[in-house]
Amino acid sequence: MSETTWRYDRLTWPEMRAAIARDPQPVVAVPIGAVEDHGAHLPISTDNDILAGVLAECGRRAAGDLLVLPTIPFGLDEHHMDFPGTIAIDIETTLAYLAQTAISIARHGFTHILIVNGHGSNHAICDLAARKCVLATGVICAATTVNAAVDPSLVADVLNAERKGGPGSVGHACEYETAMMLHLHPELVQMDKARRDIGQLKLKYFNWDHPEPSAYAWQDWWSRFSAEGVCGDAAAATPEFGRRMFEVTVERFVELLREFRTIPIRERVDHHT
Ligand SMILES: [Zn+2]
Repeated sequence: MSETTWRYDRLTWPEMRAAIARDPQPVVAVPIGAVEDHGAHLPISTDNDILAGVLAECGRRAAGDLLVLPTIPFGLDEHHMDFPGTIAIDIETTLAYLAQTAISIARHGFTHILIVNGHGSNHAICDLAARKCVLATGVICAATTVNAAVDPSLVADVLNAERKGGPGSVGHACEYETAMMLHLHPELVQMDKARRDIGQLKLKYFNWDHPEPSAYAWQDWWSRFSAEGVCGDAAAATPEFGRRMFEVTVERFVELLREFRTIPIRERVDHHT
């Protein structure tokens, strides 16, 4: 399927007008990632590569039910600035930029918008941007992710059952992200430099291994707990695990967006009178 059927910015404006008028309308995805260290074995584009790779395939398979914006490439990343190359945008700017992007889409008449996060520290900002869009426009706007190291909710069963590195193996530049890159861009992965490095703490109420929940959220400066910018078991990654996670993610995300667009826009009721 050609890019012009799923890539938001490849449409002409008359084609866009037709997409808005379609019933049911396509869901619009707004991806936001990051440029930051991903160990000595992965490029600093990794979060954006995973997002773009998964969403392109979702766009192709959704056959007109999904329009994907270009990935917003930078996010909240000050805590990675000790590693060369990271681009850090502050909380307020990231929130404003992301919310205004979603609000622009709603102003054209799209009713269902999904912010798709590819970088853990954007998580709270994506939730808030979706809320800003709902409050400003009344459309249905939500935040989700297609990167299981950011939030495994979509694929937790498969991730937990099939990862090989055991507890702590999935966090950042980890078994999961390395495997996804081995599947999507093997030429960009230097597996001879992939390490197991689980420097973040596992306490009774705090746990950074994403498949297990933590009772509180805390993000430290990365150079205080990671020597290479890895948290997890990058050495355990295989292209087979990457292909498996890619396939299950694409299949479920297409299902998710088709469910999402059935959410009705219900009337508000003013109970003051
Ligand atoms: Zn990442």
